[in-house]
Amino acid sequence: MDILKVEHVSKIYGKGETSVKALDDVSFSVEQGQFVAIIGPSGSGKSTLLHILGGVDTPTKGKVYVDGNDMYTLNESALAIFRRRQIGLIYQFYNLIPVLNVEENITLPLLLDHRKVEQKNLDELVDILGLSTRLSHLPNELSGGQQQRVSIARALIASPTLVLADEPTGNLDRKNSEEIVALLKQLHKEKNQTLIIITHDESIALQADRIISIEDGRIVKDEVIRK
Ligand code: ADP
Ligand code: ADP
Repeated sequence: MDILKVEHVSKIYGKGETSVKALDDVSFSVEQGQFVAIIGPSGSGKSTLLHILGGVDTPTKGKVYVDGNDMYTLNESALAIFRRRQIGLIYQFYNLIPVLNVEENITLPLLLDHRKVEQKNLDELVDILGLSTRLSHLPNELSGGQQQRVSIARALIASPTLVLADEPTGNLDRKNSEEIVALLKQLHKEKNQTLIIITHDESIALQADRIISIEDGRIVKDEVIRK
C-alpha cells in the first residue's frame, strides 16, 4: 500500500524576478514500511520537499496524500493535529526545547495533543535509544548523539506512520552517525513505519531500500537498492 503519494508538487518561494523555483513538478509514491533516502546537491530542493511532506511548508502546486489523506485540504488546526499524529520529524540540529528535560521533550507531542503518555511505550523507546538514565537531564547536559536520540524518541512517541529526517547525522561524527542510522532502521522496521531521510552521506543512502536523487527541484533518478 502507498502510504505517501506526491502528485505534481511545485514550490516557488517569493514573487516576480527574485522568485526561486525550489521544486518543479515532483511526483512519487512510497510504500508503507519503505526506507527512502533523498540525495542531491545543496540547494536542489531536498529540505523544501521534506518540509512539504511533513506539513510544515505548503506546496505552490500539487497534492500530498499521507495514508490517503489529502494533507493540504486540511485547515491549519486540522493539519497541526494530523502532523502530530501521523508524522515524526527529525532535524539536523535536534530542535529540542532547552528548558524542558529529556522526558518532557520526548512526550511533548502527546501533551500538545492532550493524549496520555503510555508508560510502556515510553520505557521501550528510551530503552532502545539508551536514554533511560538521562530522562531528567536537560538537553545541554547531553552529547550531540544523545540529543539526536532524544529528538528521535520525540519523533516516534506518537507512533507516526511517516518518519522524516533532514540530515539527521549532519552534525555528528562517524561513530555516532552509524549508531543513529542503525537505530532509525531498527525502529522503523519494528514498527513498519515509513522512513524518509535526506542525506549527503553515501554510506547512509546505500542502506536505504530506495534512493531518490534530486537536482534543480526535479527528480532525476529513482532507484531501488538491491542488497
Ligand atoms: P541543506 O543544504 O543542509 O539542506 P540549506 O543550508 O540549503 O540546507 O538550508 C537550510 C534551511 O534554510 C532550509 O531548510 C530552508 O528552509 C532555509 N533556507 C535555505 N535557503 C533559504 C533562503 N534563500 N531564504 C530563506 N530560507 C532559506
Ligand atoms: P536543499 O535542502 O537541497 O539544500 P532547499 O530545499 O533548502 O535545498 O532549497 C531549495 C532552493 O530554494 C534553494 O535555491 C534555496 O535557496 C531556496 N529556498 C529554500 N527555502 C527558502 C525560503 N524560505 N525562501 C526563499 N528561498 C528558499
